[in-house]
Amino acid sequence: MSKKVCKLVKKELPKEDIESYIEYILPAKYLCKKCGRTACKEDYLCKPVKITSK
Ligand SMILES: [Zn+2]
Repeated sequence: MSKKVCKLVKKELPKEDIESYIEYILPAKYLCKKCGRTACKEDYLCKPVKITSK
């Protein structure tokens, strides 16, 4: 799959299919520097940065 969470949000997927959307974002490991979205794979974001937690 090459869909980006950033684009899915613009297409309002969270409203239409919240369960599919959750599969993209959990567990959140990456953050989009441009949009502020989070996702489990960097492929899902347009400007991914790895989230590091301490
Ligand atoms: Zn983005």
